[in-house]
Amino acid sequence: MAKILDGKEVAAALKDELVAEVDRLRKQGITPGLCLVMAGSRPDSQSYINSAVKRCSSIGIDCRVKKLPEDVTQGDFLKIIDDLNTDPKINGIMVMRPLPQYISENTIKYKISPEKDVDCLNPINVSKVISGDDDGFAPCTPAAVIEILDYYGIKVEGKRTVVIGRSMVVGRPLAMMLLARNATVTICHTRTRNLAEETKKGEILIAAAGKAKMVTKDMVSNGAVVIDVGINFDESGKMCGDVDFDSVCPIASSITPVPGGVGAVTSTVLAKHVIEALKLQKGIY
Ligand code: NAD
Repeated sequence: MAKILDGKEVAAALKDELVAEVDRLRKQGITPGLCLVMAGSRPDSQSYINSAVKRCSSIGIDCRVKKLPEDVTQGDFLKIIDDLNTDPKINGIMVMRPLPQYISENTIKYKISPEKDVDCLNPINVSKVISGDDDGFAPCTPAAVIEILDYYGIKVEGKRTVVIGRSMVVGRPLAMMLLARNATVTICHTRTRNLAEETKKGEILIAAAGKAKMVTKDMVSNGAVVIDVGINFDESGKMCGDVDFDSVCPIASSITPVPGGVGAVTSTVLAKHVIEALKLQKGIY
């Protein structure tokens, strides 16, 4: 049976470090600040915000939520981002996606200050992820995957690592981050032929497709490390990942559960990025 890679344990260890860091900053009279911006009323965005605010507040970060109507104009949206860019109390800005139809993500992403862009929307941060520079911000979810691998001492160097999914939020940046750590990376997507043939090559297999239980045991090689990024709901409405946990667990060497895996680490990584952003902005090393 696979060892369970416990996201809650990873998040708790990271939280302890961050609380100590925030205490040190507080003694210098500085408190990190985060603003989450949400336009419209998508329940998934709202539930992300609730858990991010809860987590970041518990670490000592001042959290603000800016809720905008679904029909907010592009001009008003840009003005809000401008104000946050220059607000000295705000060190990190996170814009919930998908944006409503009247707002162009392509415009917003250039507007958000790269130094406050804690979830890697701005192409400057994207390019830093691609080039392996460590002074930018990667998106929180792939960064959470890396936190889990590091916490459990799972080395990726030289390993055949297969990522299912090529979105800008998860699959693509994650592949680049693994490449920067010298993994041999294959990216699979909806047009990949013989998916199982590709995924079986993975010593490390990471699923970020958003398809409930699509990774079955015939797609996983014996002893593989399996990381499940997916957040889905099965026929009975129960949360599940992209991996069919019950069938894959007996053949994998280690595996993240859903819930309690990658998703449990993401908001703590957001807090980490806000603290890093503050230090970057204030020149604290
Ligand atoms: P997305 O829909 O933007 O991208 C999915 C990707 O998977 C696409 O690149 C697509 O080509 C690929 N894909 C889809 N079906 C496939 C199939 N049958 N075979 C091969 N490839 C396939 O989704 P996303 O935003 O990248 O999110 C992926 C999953 O991760 C979702 O379940 C989402 O809820 C979850 N997620 C989790 C967290 C977290 O904190 N754990 C954060 C963000 C997203």
